[in-house]
Amino acid sequence: MSEADCIFCRIHRGELPATVVNRADGLLAIEDMNPRADVHVLVIPERHIETFRDVGVLPADEAKRMLDFVAETARAVGLDEYRVMVFCGAGAGQTVFHLHWHILGGTFRGLPA
Ligand code: 5GP
Ligand code: ZN
Repeated sequence: MSEADCIFCRIHRGELPATVVNRADGLLAIEDMNPRADVHVLVIPERHIETFRDVGVLPADEAKRMLDFVAETARAVGLDEYRVMVFCGAGAGQTVFHLHWHILGGTFRGLPA
């Protein structure tokens, strides 16, 4: 999917609404619209990278900032213990082809069948 139609690019551009829980330069954290845990937040870098497979295109400093932002966002939403997940590829459950991280806190209700 192109950046023009990509749901997460559109959220970054403010074209689609989202409940933002944290933001930093080039990074956004929003509530998942279909939560699979008591707390379910998505961390979405602004840069359109289709899957985790291509994470190597991120410059080292951006990659480090993204990881720090995941941990900082978990703290900011009050989580000390949580899961961080990435689904890479349709066969592994990826449905939005723009790299994002799931932060799952509290009771985890599992992955869709
Ligand atoms: P994936 O399975 O690709 O790793 O996860 C995509 C996630 O994005 C799903 O958990 C889904 O509920 C969430 N999602 C899809 N579209 C939207 C949207 O428009 N807004 C929000 N907040 N979450 C979305
Ligand atoms: Zn995108």
